[in-house]
Amino acid sequence: MPIRRLTDDMINRIAAGEVVERPASVVKELVENAIDAGAKRIEIVTAGGGIALIRITDDGSGMDAADLAVAVERHATSKLADDLLDIRTLGFRGEALASIGAVARLSISSRHAGEPHGWEVAVSGGIVEPLRPAAIAKGTRVEVRDLFFATPARLKFMKGERAEASAITDVVKRLAMAHPEIRFNLSGSDRTALDLPSTGDGGFAERLAQVLGRDFADNAMIIDAAREGVRLAGQAGLPTFHRANGLQQYLFVNGRPVRDKLLIGALRAGYADVMARDRHPVAALQLMLDPHEVDVNVHPAKADVRFRDPGLVRGLIVGALRQAIHQSGHRATSTGGGATIAAFRPGTPPPFSSAHASRPAYAAARSAAAYAWEAPSFAEPQTGFEAVNQPSADARAHDSPADARIARPLGAARAQVHSTYVIAQTEDGIVIVDQHAAHERLVYERLKQALARSGAARQILLIPDIVDLPSEDVARLIARAEELAELGLVIEGFGPGAVAVRETPALLGSVDSAALLADLADDFAEWDGSTRLAEKLDHVAATMACHGSVRAGRQLRPEEMDALLREMEATPGSGQCNHGRPTYVELKLSDIERLFGRR
Ligand code: ADP
Ligand code: MG
Repeated sequence: MPIRRLTDDMINRIAAGEVVERPASVVKELVENAIDAGAKRIEIVTAGGGIALIRITDDGSGMDAADLAVAVERHATSKLADDLLDIRTLGFRGEALASIGAVARLSISSRHAGEPHGWEVAVSGGIVEPLRPAAIAKGTRVEVRDLFFATPARLKFMKGERAEASAITDVVKRLAMAHPEIRFNLSGSDRTALDLPSTGDGGFAERLAQVLGRDFADNAMIIDAAREGVRLAGQAGLPTFHRANGLQQYLFVNGRPVRDKLLIGALRAGYADVMARDRHPVAALQLMLDPHEVDVNVHPAKADVRFRDPGLVRGLIVGALRQAIHQSGHRATSTGGGATIAAFRPGTPPPFSSAHASRPAYAAARSAAAYAWEAPSFAEPQTGFEAVNQPSADARAHDSPADARIARPLGAARAQVHSTYVIAQTEDGIVIVDQHAAHERLVYERLKQALARSGAARQILLIPDIVDLPSEDVARLIARAEELAELGLVIEGFGPGAVAVRETPALLGSVDSAALLADLADDFAEWDGSTRLAEKLDHVAATMACHGSVRAGRQLRPEEMDALLREMEATPGSGQCNHGRPTYVELKLSDIERLFGRR
């Protein structure tokens, strides 16, 4: 094929592919424009997840007739002088309006303060119509209908009304956090309304409370740190306030919401010592620095940035978070010497039958017996392997020198410490079990089996639990109420911002409904609206199991401890909890000897 120049129309549609990925990107671009125009109030209305309609009204500067005519052209902007490294506005590429006009039906009415009346311009599938006078107060109203009608291929990639509507909410929340002085109002037939009044003097902290709720405020640490002209300010959740995904991480660079890998990585690193790998901190952090130190022209969506000194930025974030965590009284978990930690190894799943056959030679244990604190149990030959198949509730068995349980992979329970860890004695070492992690795994396996078989048995709560949640979370949960009921969790709406929990899966025992619902809502936010829960059974079961388990902090009776160990031995994959953490660690006598310098 000969080389031909693309038509303007084609160029616009190609550019639009990058700038306008989904309805939320249209909202982002238009709200950014309103903010750049100095608006004090921005109103957003959507329908059909933003595909049918997006209407954004602002009280900003407005445009006169001449500007309005140029605004919809490609590469037309009022924001860029000639320094790409001194960008102080959210927009600068001059391609949003042209891109939107190329793929949708766009109409903009605007009135500049100096004009006697307003003007309107309409663009449909890239075709611009002549300007007409319009009746409008000072400011701008942008209406986008039938998004992607001109590019049907893109339309096929949309996720469904609910998912697109909630992506829009997310975008608005992010921009609203960065601009607490502006009043934001988001409404429409496809959503529950969100109204965020200007916070006046309350600033960022007050806006965070509006958007993230009091719950976050109660569980957050104040972050304020600076290094070499870079400042970090905001709030970060306590290490115990974690979520199932990173959706609640709000990061801003000079007032621009970003999803930058470097920043997300630094956030993770700040919590690395105090949070499981697959849990995510909640945070809203602003980074402020000289615009020359950061390049925002990395991607058309402007969500990535490049820092001139990435090490400085990362160091500042990691350092500030670690210090805040330290000051909030949460000690990092690894306080022991490196040798100790190295000697403790994550447990490997035990074989489930004829366990004793795979144990190391008895002689090895005997040779180590001198160092064991309970030497008698090593002093006699082991007998009675048969008996070990049932957990023994006989208290005398614990003291029996010929304790058959010792030959089991996870040994004989000897003690519970800190109401959290079960310590067991094995033939050639000790095992420390994290009772919560272990129990969670067992509940998960049982739940999965029960669900796959016949649906889960429920228990009725005498008094329903009323759980307050953000309205989008309520909507996500209620949309799946029927499916959740099949899994044993019966909920119903309780006004726009709350859910009533009536029944819970019996297997879970007593449940912290609020935490369970928050995590389920997080899960659902990540999934497509059409995904059946049955397809995600493992995941749902894991989330539920996590909340139904024996929490750390419960005293266990000796026979309960042994029952836990025996069930772990019989359950595949019980060496790890559902989050990938080990459920137990094992310390061999030889390791203990090394610790004491005997080897
Ligand atoms: P950019 O924001 O990158 O400049 P856009 O295509 O989004 O590019 O907008 C083009 C121009 O239209 C802007 O530079 C601005 O001058 C004008 N404009 C767009 N939206 C508004 C608005 N809501 N109020 C006032 N002016 C606007
Ligand atoms: Mg713009």
